[in-house]
Amino acid sequence: MENYMDSGLTGAGALVDREKRHLNYLRISITDRCNLRCLYCVPEGRIPKLGHDEILSYEEILRLVKIGIQLGIRKVRITGGEPLVRKGAVELLGRLARIRELKDVSLTTNGVLLAPNAQRIFDAGIRRINISLDSLDPKKYAQITGYDRFEQVWAGIQRAREIGFSPIKINVVAMRGINDDEIAAFGRLSLDHPFHVRFIEYMPIGNSRARSQDQILTPEIQERITAIGELIPVGNGQHDGPARRYRLAGARGEVGFISALSHHFCNRCNRLRLTADGKLRACLLSDRHESLKGLLRNGGSDEQLAEIFRIAVRRKAAEHQLCPDGATRVKDQMQGIGG
Ligand code: SAM
Repeated sequence: MENYMDSGLTGAGALVDREKRHLNYLRISITDRCNLRCLYCVPEGRIPKLGHDEILSYEEILRLVKIGIQLGIRKVRITGGEPLVRKGAVELLGRLARIRELKDVSLTTNGVLLAPNAQRIFDAGIRRINISLDSLDPKKYAQITGYDRFEQVWAGIQRAREIGFSPIKINVVAMRGINDDEIAAFGRLSLDHPFHVRFIEYMPIGNSRARSQDQILTPEIQERITAIGELIPVGNGQHDGPARRYRLAGARGEVGFISALSHHFCNRCNRLRLTADGKLRACLLSDRHESLKGLLRNGGSDEQLAEIFRIAVRRKAAEHQLCPDGATRVKDQMQGIGG
């Protein structure tokens, strides 16, 4: 096992920003490609794709993770695009899971390729998995994602459960007139299954076919869930992010709300994001980024790359400036950033 703490860096240590937030969580998008075209994520028509040479290689990603660890990163999530469409993604997960300093390595996937890969992902050492699923109705699923793949995803979720992944989080972006009639059904899913259903507020990011008017904010989603039963708050654990967690009485699973627009959680944000093409973003909802790829590919030292991490952290805004009315948008596309 390589020694990821063998720091040649000067002043290595925690990445702490001006707001005294400890940034110890790195989310890595390993590809901008996806096998779905979700209407709230992808624009109409052809989307320009990054060339093979434009995306970071796994060795480059691992070098940046090593530098991040020396600066205090302890948690990594692999995302995309769809991470499982990139060849070697499971091997990368395995290499990350074997790094002793990382206390948590997890995966976000749309689940289309999960069933055939779930056992290998588990054997690679991954236990925590987030699966995006915006409808329980196969027809509507196809309308939202552009592909008739509900059964594949559902089989992947069942397989993940049989194998023993825990927790299995189901991410739902609730949109008015699109899937809001299923909010209660998703709540009920947590009654019978040990899933953690997470409602994510739609965020105006990049070009997509969704409109800000279609978004439903957490208070309304919560009210609709309450119609099935009382929501009992669940204390947040050490791996919990910004979700506010609840359990319906007698439920095997949980319901949670991620409310980036209606309830900023910027004061608790501990995240940095590495995009597929090597940009470091300190805030999902701001286009400000620092590029690592040039230095990485032109002989930059670990110290120089670490300085880019520090600059990103120094420039992290106290809070994002997006409002629910959609008057401002993030310009970059979500599939390159990773969510
Ligand atoms: N392909 C993987 C997946 O579907 O989970 C990983 C990438 S995807 C960009 C990560 C998450 O971002 C998904 O849960 C997706 O629903 C969410 N997402 C994409 N666009 C969004 C938007 N505009 N607002 C809120 N969430 C969004």
